[in-house]
Amino acid sequence: MSAPQGCTGNVWSDLTGGHPGFDMPAEPGYRLGTDRPIDGPGIGALIGAAFDGCKPCQVRWLDALQSDPLVTVRVVELAAQFTQQALGGIPSAMTTTDPASSLSEPFRALVRLGADAGDNHRPMYAAAVRLDDAGRRAAINDAVDSIVGHMALGL
Ligand SMILES: [Zn+2]
Repeated sequence: MSAPQGCTGNVWSDLTGGHPGFDMPAEPGYRLGTDRPIDGPGIGALIGAAFDGCKPCQVRWLDALQSDPLVTVRVVELAAQFTQQALGGIPSAMTTTDPASSLSEPFRALVRLGADAGDNHRPMYAAAVRLDDAGRRAAINDAVDSIVGHMALGL
């Protein structure tokens, strides 16, 4: 794969998508009820592009990942974990059903399911399967924004 036009990355590699530094291993999806591996490298590349503020690469990776419910659940989990670590809990802004929220409903719905289910993340996965590509893309986008926000604060 080559860098999309307008990529701001200094280094382009086939593995990281040009924004290195976010090494996220592929891991099995067993705890989500599937034996398919979670695309860690894809998630790492998307987060790397977002951290670098590279829109062309974010768009490219969102295009590539939006159909994947495993990726969707994993990045929402990561966003919740980072938030939990930083704030000691999940703020109501991330779980509200208020349609005026600045966060997408698919993202908030998945965070709600994750908070309600504790360590059982299968309901999140089932919900992510039911979302359409636009819904998953919105959830992934909000999750990555949150993750990058925490990373920028040095967590
Ligand atoms: Zn780029």
